[in-house]
This record gives sequence, C-alpha cells and structure tokens, in this order.
Amino acid sequence: MAAQTVASTTNSADTVDLGPAAALSCRECGHRVPLGPVFACEECFGPLEIAYDFSAYDTEELRKLIEAGPANIWRYAPLLPVPADVADKPNINPGWTKLVQADNLARELGVDAGKLFVKDDSGNPTHSFKDRVVAQALEAARAFGFTTLSCSSTGNLAGAVGAAAARAGFRSCVFIPHDLEQGKVVMAAVYGGELVGIEGNYDDVNRFCSELIGDPAGEGWGFVNVNLRPYYAEGSKTLAYEICEQLGWKLPDQLVVPIASGSQLTKIDKGLQELIKLGLVEDRPYKIFGAQAEGCSPVSVAYKAGHDVVRPQKPDTIAKSLAIGNPADGPYVLDIARRTGGAVEDVNDEQIVDAIKLLARTEGIFAETAGGVTVGVTRKLIENGLLDPTLTTVVLNTGDGLKTLDAVASDTGLTATIRPNLDSFREAGLAS
Ligand SMILES: *Cc1c(COP(=O)(O)O)cnc(C)c1O
Ligand SMILES: [Zn+2]
Repeated sequence: MAAQTVASTTNSADTVDLGPAAALSCRECGHRVPLGPVFACEECFGPLEIAYDFSAYDTEELRKLIEAGPANIWRYAPLLPVPADVADKPNINPGWTKLVQADNLARELGVDAGKLFVKDDSGNPTHSFKDRVVAQALEAARAFGFTTLSCSSTGNLAGAVGAAAARAGFRSCVFIPHDLEQGKVVMAAVYGGELVGIEGNYDDVNRFCSELIGDPAGEGWGFVNVNLRPYYAEGSKTLAYEICEQLGWKLPDQLVVPIASGSQLTKIDKGLQELIKLGLVEDRPYKIFGAQAEGCSPVSVAYKAGHDVVRPQKPDTIAKSLAIGNPADGPYVLDIARRTGGAVEDVNDEQIVDAIKLLARTEGIFAETAGGVTVGVTRKLIENGLLDPTLTTVVLNTGDGLKTLDAVASDTGLTATIRPNLDSFREAGLAS
C-alpha cells in the first residue's frame, strides 16, 4: 500500500502502465517524450499524440480477443493507452452504442436502402460521446497520480467528468460558460462535483484553464482536455473501431462527423488507419466529411476558401456543444477531409432544428443539436452531390436531445387539448 502511494506521486515513464502506449510523439516534428501529463511539444509546440507498439499482435488473435471482450470500449483495450486490466477498475465503461440501420431516413434523403447508418452515441452513460474520451483520461489521471479531475467544457464534457470522477472517487471541479442550456448544467451538477460558470464563451473558459494549469492553485489537477489531452483524444478512436466491427469488420465508404475542436474527427481517422494497418479491415478508400453549425463554422469556411489555416470565429449558434470558435485540431481536419476526398459543410440553426425533427420522426432517435448538425449536413452534402447516396454512409449522433430541449421546444407541443370524453376526441379530428 505504502509503495503504491509513493509510486502514484512519483510516476515516471518506467512505472506508468498504459498498455500498448509507448511514448508521446509530436504530430508536427515527431519528437518523442516519455508518457506523462504533457500535451505540447517542447521543440515546436505541436500537439503530442500517443505512439504505440502494436508489433506483437497477430491479426486473427487480436480480432478474437476483441470479440470476446466486454460490451464497452474496453474490448479495444489492446489498442488504447490503458492497462490490460482496465475493465476491472471503477470507470463509467462507455461505448458499444447502437449502429442503427436508418432505412426510413435513407428514403427521405434519397440514400439507397440498407446503406445509411446512424451511430447513436446518445446511449452512453451521460448521454454523449464525451464519456468515451473521459474514460480514457480517467485512466491516465489514475496512472499519473492525480486526485482531481477537471475540464473546460461546452456542457457535455462537464457531465461526463462529473460522473466518471464520482464513480472512481476523484474530486471534480469543472468550468463551463455561465450561459449553457439548463439540461447540461443540471446534468453536470448532479454528480456532486464542483461546477464553475465562467463569464465568457468556451474559448475564454479554455484560456482560463490553461492559466490554472501553470499555477500552484491547479497542482495535482488532471484537466482531461488540456494536460491529459493526448490520452483523452484517443477515446474517439473507439468510435471508428465500433463502427467497423458493427459493420462486420468493414470500413464504411463515407462518415459524417461533427466538429467542435476537431479532435474526434482526427482520431476517428487515426482509428481507421490503425485497423487497416493491423489487417482488421480491408485497405480501401473512405471519405470523412466534417459537419459544423453556420454560427460557428471556422473549419467549414477555411475548407471552402481552400485555406490551410483556420481563422477563429465568435460562436453564435444553438449547437452549443460544437461552439468552439478556435478549434485546436482545425488544420488537421482540413488535411483529412482533403486527403480522403471528403468535405466540410455547415448548416444554419433552422436546418439544425429541421434535421433533429427529421431524425426523430424517421428513426425514433432524439438527437441533441450536434446530431441535427450532422444529419442536416448529410442532407446538404447529398444535395450538393458531394456525398454519394449509393455508398455505405455512417452519420454520427453524438448527444441526446433531452439535454437541448430548448432547441425544439418552441415548435413542438400538444396536438390538441380535449375534455376526457369521446365527443371531444372526435371534435378534435383525432378519430381513425
Ligand atoms: C464534444 C462534442 C463533439 C466533438 O468534439 P471535438 O472537440 O471535435 O472532439 C461532438 N458532439 C458533441 C455532442 C460533443 O459534446
Ligand atoms: Zn514538435
């Protein structure tokens, strides 16, 4: 016990067990450093990513191991920066969410029958995709001996951190813009951690957190999306793994992915590349399409202008979970959209609401505004001829409509109010 306490405060590269994770490597210059709670390259300030050693894996053995694993993201533990016994530790165990064959939606959008799928991540423990990335960051926090879990959040992340910290016995203190949707505030607060509203937008919150990390006031704190970002980001790879496994170990032809910071999209691409290299799926082309809200569309604007750099915007959209005006991974998203032959598109608030209602009415899936963005963008990409309606397409729904009720509340409601008798029912025109 005593030895463990010492190790947890003095963990170095030699004592950190994060499974196949071998080191951190700079995405820009390739400079490698030992695994630790750092996120920027000391040589060039580029983002650090996890580098793995997968050399010992046999494809068929790995496939069998995964298929025999738990029905959550830990079935992919051999491909993630987590210890081999991760499934036995207290965590929220997200993932293995439904891949819904969306034939009704396909008909409405003019996609061939059997070709359109919705990956519905509203089924995660706190009802958004963020549980995937937080579950990863929690394991890194444990490995590095942190006792407080924190983040800057547009809402969903705060809830996911609160829940994961509660389950694993960490203190949590999270920071959000003070004017978020009530559903997200309640969802973040209910787990009993500290929840701090910052007077400013998400980019202000993020800046504040970076300052706190460098200050003694934030010592011992693991910020899941700042100093633990390399580990956190890997959680998004599990979306790629699950989609392929659920398609029968096949790559989809096209994916439509929402963009906030762009981390999810870039790591979905990384996950697909790994599956190809490991021989778990056939090596053939796929296209990744990025989706933004018009009121916060810095990546889409850069894509359409043919730029390599992303000019920051001041967000103004109902899609608050995607409202990052200065997306850290924006340039990488541009690279991936261009390299794979995809595109980046945006839709306005009205189109987002229409798409939320379309998905609900056709497939019985109530998406949050981010899901309205991906479904709306899918429709627009088909109209523009950029997305091929004859090919297998997976559209991500990354959150639950119950958290963003306001987005649709004004134009949904009672069909009629009647007295409790049949005459009144008939008068209202409801009889069959
Ligand atoms: C955070 C989030 C995303 C994607 O975020 P990235 O920063 O691009 O990884 C997508 N959808 C929802 C609902 C989110 O909360
Ligand atoms: Zn570098």
